[in-house]
Amino acid sequence: MTPSQIVKFLDQHVIGQDEAKRQLAVAVYTHYKKIELAAPDRVEIVKSNVLLVGPTGTGKTLLCETLSRVLEVPFVTANATSLAQSEYVNEEIEAILQRLIDKAEGDIGRAQRGIVFIDEIDKLKAISSQSGQGRGTSGEGVQHALLKIMEGVPVKIKDSHYIDTTQVLFICGGAFVGLEDILAKTRSFGFISTSEDDNQKLLDRLNARVKPTDLFEYGLIQEFAGRLPIVASLKPLSREMMVRIMTEPTNSIYSQYCQILQNNGVELIIEPLVFEQIADLAMEYRVGARSLRGIFEEMLTPVIYLVPDHPEVRQVKIASLFENARFIGTRSPG
Ligand code: ADP
Repeated sequence: MTPSQIVKFLDQHVIGQDEAKRQLAVAVYTHYKKIELAAPDRVEIVKSNVLLVGPTGTGKTLLCETLSRVLEVPFVTANATSLAQSEYVNEEIEAILQRLIDKAEGDIGRAQRGIVFIDEIDKLKAISSQSGQGRGTSGEGVQHALLKIMEGVPVKIKDSHYIDTTQVLFICGGAFVGLEDILAKTRSFGFISTSEDDNQKLLDRLNARVKPTDLFEYGLIQEFAGRLPIVASLKPLSREMMVRIMTEPTNSIYSQYCQILQNNGVELIIEPLVFEQIADLAMEYRVGARSLRGIFEEMLTPVIYLVPDHPEVRQVKIASLFENARFIGTRSPG
C-alpha cells in the first residue's frame, strides 16, 4: 500500500489529524519497505521509530490500531507509567512481546513485524521522582530497557522461544504538556533564513520540528529521544470534530446503536442537536473523545432497556439530551 492509500484507510476511522496521518503513513511505508528491501545478512535496518505527541483522547492509540489493521500486522499497547511502577521492567517488556505473539496467534514471524504502541512516555520523569523508595524502576531504567528492544534484540519468552524485535515498529505516545512553549523557546536554534519562498517554507517546517533536546525536560534521555526521529503532533479535538467522531467513522458509535436497534426492528433517530450537546459535555470533561461513548451509552440505556420488551415500537426519537426519548409505534410503552 502507498502512503496515500494508507491515509485514505485511516480517514475512514479517524477524524481529522491529517498531518499526523500523513507522517505516520510515510513512516510505516518506509519501515516496511526497508524490511522488504533488506537482505537478511546484508543491509542493516536503521529504524525510524515514531513519537506521537498530543492530548489524551485525541486518537493516538486509535491511529496505531487502525494502522495495524490496514497493514494486517499484530498490535499491542503498553504504558510507560506501569513499566516504571514495576520492579521487574524486563519481565514486563517480555510480557508485552508475549502479547504481541498471542495477537499473531503464536506466529512468531508475524509478531516480529508487529506494532507496539507505548503510551505516557512523557510521564517517566514524574514517576521516577515519586518512586524513590527503591520500588519500581527509574524512568531512565525504563528507557534503557525500551531502547534495547527498540533497537532490536532477540528476547527470550516462555517455552524457550525467542522473538527478534529488529523489525517491530515502536510508536511512542504522550501528551507532553507545555511542549509548545519549549518549542517556541528553542525555535531560533540554528535558524537559517533564506530569501527564496519555497526554501523558507521548508526551513520554517524544519525549525518548527520537535528536536530531541526539546524532550529532555520530560525526562527523556538523549539516546532515547534520539531514537524517535519522527515526531507527529495530534491536535486537540474541536466540538465539531467530536460531533463527527460520533457519526462519521465506519462503525461509529451512532451506527453501532442504530444496528443494535435495527435488530429489534426499530429505527433510531437522534437529532443533530443531541450530538452537539454530547460534544459540549465531552469538551468539559477534557479527556478528548474518550468520554463520548459513556455519555452516549448512558443516554441510550433506558431505550435499550425498554425496546426488547416492546415489539410494537417501530421508531425511537431523541430530540435533546435533556428530554426523554420518544417511542413511536402502534402503542407507546410509556
Ligand atoms: P489517545 O490519544 O489517548 O491514545 P485514543 O486513540 O485511545 O486516545 O482515543 C480514545 C477514544 O476516542 C477512542 O474510543 C477513539 O475511538 C476516540 N477517538 C479519539 N480521537 C479520535 C479521532 N480523531 N477520530 C475518531 N475517534 C477518536
